[in-house]
Amino acid sequence: MRTIEHWVAGKPTTGVSDRTAPVYNPATGEQQADVLLADARDVEAAIAAAKDAFADWSQTSVSKRTKVLFAFREIVNARASELAELITDEHGKVLSDALGEVQRGLEVVEFACGIASLLKGDYSDQVSTDVDTYSFREPLGVVAGITPFNFPAMVPMWMFPVAIACGNTFVLKPSERDPSASMLIAQMWQEAGLPDGVFNVVHGDKLAVDTILDSPDVAAVSFVGSTPIAKYIHERGTANGKRVQALGGAKNHAIILPDADVEFAADHLAAAAFGSAGERCMAISAAVTVGDVADRLVEAVNQRARAVKVGSGRDRDSEMGPVVTRDAQQRIVGLIDTGEEQGARIAVDGRGHTVAGHEDGFFVGPTVIDEVSTAMDVYTQEIFGPVLAVVRTETVDEAIALINANPYGNGTAIFTNSGEAARRFQRGVHVGMIGINVPVPVPMAYYSFGGWKDSLFGDKHVHGPEGVSFYTRAKVVTARWPRSEHASDASFHFPTSK
Ligand code: NAD
Repeated sequence: MRTIEHWVAGKPTTGVSDRTAPVYNPATGEQQADVLLADARDVEAAIAAAKDAFADWSQTSVSKRTKVLFAFREIVNARASELAELITDEHGKVLSDALGEVQRGLEVVEFACGIASLLKGDYSDQVSTDVDTYSFREPLGVVAGITPFNFPAMVPMWMFPVAIACGNTFVLKPSERDPSASMLIAQMWQEAGLPDGVFNVVHGDKLAVDTILDSPDVAAVSFVGSTPIAKYIHERGTANGKRVQALGGAKNHAIILPDADVEFAADHLAAAAFGSAGERCMAISAAVTVGDVADRLVEAVNQRARAVKVGSGRDRDSEMGPVVTRDAQQRIVGLIDTGEEQGARIAVDGRGHTVAGHEDGFFVGPTVIDEVSTAMDVYTQEIFGPVLAVVRTETVDEAIALINANPYGNGTAIFTNSGEAARRFQRGVHVGMIGINVPVPVPMAYYSFGGWKDSLFGDKHVHGPEGVSFYTRAKVVTARWPRSEHASDASFHFPTSK
């Protein structure tokens, strides 16, 4: 059985802990590797390597840092298929989707290639006689990323390109369920010329995470994962004096108004609910119909759900792969059961879905649950599977109020031909990322990504301008170069402009 090692100070290492976790191929259900689970000493070794590397990397010129980023961009681009295959084999998503994730991650690298412009400070001439003021931003030190299973390349790439471009050094603790992508990324950084120790990977579970959160040598933590863990990371990290951005789970609603193009909305809803088997934090998991569009919409979505080609992510014909683990499969099926027990109507049933030749794979078929109420478990829980719940409402204001009553606030969308309704929606919802006839409104890399309420703990969203701000802190300099013939004007009152 292959063992997936850590990457510390520019090379793979087994570290000292011999604990491991199994890594599966979700399409076959077979274990394909063991991943090492770090103990405190392994994590401390990675943090120490990053701390050592910070001394030089933080002093490396912006142009030299940028050259490494451009080289990294070229390598990831050239080897995107290889990275996508690793993702598909451990996560299960179809290859085209895995390639899409690599592409969206690359866009953050491209954004970070422009770090010279992004780090430009301000300068004010002659703020007082012979006095100038200017500001610039400095890196924080060692920063850490703790990431979820569902985007093993893209979510870490939301973080480390910006952090490293700003002059920080990085320790990544990826998900233990699909850890191989991060190891290939570490090799790519090395090929790009990144000095050893600037980017490190430690695999592990709560023990590794707690060591990061308690380390006095880690200045900031970026986390993406489920809400209970995000809240915990934020509380423990900030209690230890760190800067923390912790992105949590989601329940993303799409409102469908009676004036919407129902065929267009159904196509996009099916893709947004069942793409990546619903394991996206921006997946649409609740369709909120308004008025008499409900029956037409449900019928159109049902047709599409039944037509989705489910199979191995490696099969070019597959549109949707398996879910990540047997546990996830059982949890999703159990939640569909509760929907039925609590009185919802299972319009398309993905329970018991099998794929010929992959009978032991972790498959759940696309599922549509109609007549869902906001009290049911299929509405209150983040299912994180290929399940679309349909909630029927009468007015757009009722639909907006329903979204605002939900504790999550990651993404949301509206399908309509009314500019007035769309504008009322965009201004009225308490949600961070909003789509208008766009169901998965993931912002481009030069905007920042983040939700509201229980979908994000902390002040800053990831990547884009807020990412640069998160990974740096400001200095403001007030300077005077007195001419020797000028008399000193020192005084004991508080300094004011002259
Ligand atoms: P998860 O919370 O189980 O794990 C995320 C990370 O936290 C992993 O690295 C894991 O090892 C670590 N972890 C798990 N339990 C821990 C504990 N008790 N203490 C400390 N660390 C712990 O999430 P997941 O199942 O890997 O990913 C799915 C979740 O991530 C979903 O809730 C999804 O909505 C969310 N997600 C959110 C976003 C976003 O942008 N808001 C993006 C992607 C995924």
